[in-house]
Amino acid sequence: MLFNPPHPAETKVLTRRFGLPNSESIDTYLANDGYKAFLKAREMSQEQIIEEVKLSSLRGRGGAGFPTGMKWSFVPRTSPKPKYIVVNADESEPGTCKDRVLMENDPHGLIEGVLIAALSIGAHRGWVYIRGEYRYLIDIMDRAIEEAYKHGYLGKNIRGTGFDFDFSTHTGAGAYECGEESALLESLEGKRGIPRIRPPFPAVSGAFQCPTILNNVETYYAVPPIILNGGKWYADLGVPKAGGTRMLCLSGHVNTPGVYEIPLGFPMMRAINELGGGMLNGNKLKAVVPGGSSCPLLRAEECDINMDYDSLAKVKSMLGSGGMVVLDETTDMVKFALRIMRFYQHESCGWCIPCREGTLWLKKLLTRLDAGVGSSSDISLVGELAKNMFGRTFCPLGDAAAMPTMSIIEKFRDEFEARLAGVTLPPELVSIA
Ligand code: SF4
Repeated sequence: MLFNPPHPAETKVLTRRFGLPNSESIDTYLANDGYKAFLKAREMSQEQIIEEVKLSSLRGRGGAGFPTGMKWSFVPRTSPKPKYIVVNADESEPGTCKDRVLMENDPHGLIEGVLIAALSIGAHRGWVYIRGEYRYLIDIMDRAIEEAYKHGYLGKNIRGTGFDFDFSTHTGAGAYECGEESALLESLEGKRGIPRIRPPFPAVSGAFQCPTILNNVETYYAVPPIILNGGKWYADLGVPKAGGTRMLCLSGHVNTPGVYEIPLGFPMMRAINELGGGMLNGNKLKAVVPGGSSCPLLRAEECDINMDYDSLAKVKSMLGSGGMVVLDETTDMVKFALRIMRFYQHESCGWCIPCREGTLWLKKLLTRLDAGVGSSSDISLVGELAKNMFGRTFCPLGDAAAMPTMSIIEKFRDEFEARLAGVTLPPELVSIA
């Protein structure tokens, strides 16, 4: 099982069972408070469950950070249509690898979070949509689901409570775009994974045009501890308007990269120096991608900051999906910008022109600049093109490609100019190729 040894700077709520013998088994889960929150929630009304989640100030951990309790309250519970629960486990944002660690070490935590969400709206069917590249995880989740059925925690009349719920895995087919909620729903229904026009949002018309709660894996994991310990307890772990802990995927030029659990509002420099064990080879910090490749980058001097939604918004970046990439002084920012754009151009679903054409032309321009060919006006053109894509695409992938590009051009333009003047880092120092 993949997990880091516990670090004293962590606050372990979602990861509290990591490292226990057979942590993925239902026996270990049941011996460590497993399914107690579901049984408690069964005694609560739907309104009480949703109020507790609202009180926790839990916000969606997939990237958008929308308040979870509010999202659940949008579901029309009196609708005659069936209600559904969908888990977004299509984890594909570069730099992000937290959902797989959660599911790998504690798959029943997800099932219990889903069951409580189902209770809150009266849903009786759910799916976890897992990216196809996580083949081994699908097996782990399938085994956990089978165990839950055998022990009466899924299926008819769960543990004699009179509540029925069926749950299964659904395999993605390798498209980053299917991490976008409406494209995921299309794909779940067996269609091509392209986004839907919204509104209506999934809460009203989601899977099979029925009211649906759709959240990220990590969001569901937070729900059982919230129900067991109370929304206020969870809220107090974090900062105002953003309660609890979150998974931090720390990678790049640090000594001890890994997946850690930190409270919201944790200082970024502590993450680098304590969790990450400091900069690799004692090099100087150059930049940080704070929450996955779609987030605007921060320069070293902007990194003395707390990691929560509002603090990062103040420096025009985002907490995103928790994928923090640390870049040191050896990083070639021209190549870094090109590498990001290659990814987004490849993953563009082609549905709308600003993204389909914009990512292609940005890739071409960045390829040329990386080769030291072109003029200063090409650098400006990259920034302008990205700016014109931003906010004009059908789904957030266009913004995801535009935002890091705009920030790299704005903050590291001198490196592009130097490339055109024939100045490059010595090959042995170039770490992003
Ligand atoms: Fe497809 Fe890109 Fe348009 Fe999203 S922004 S719909 S990924 S072309």
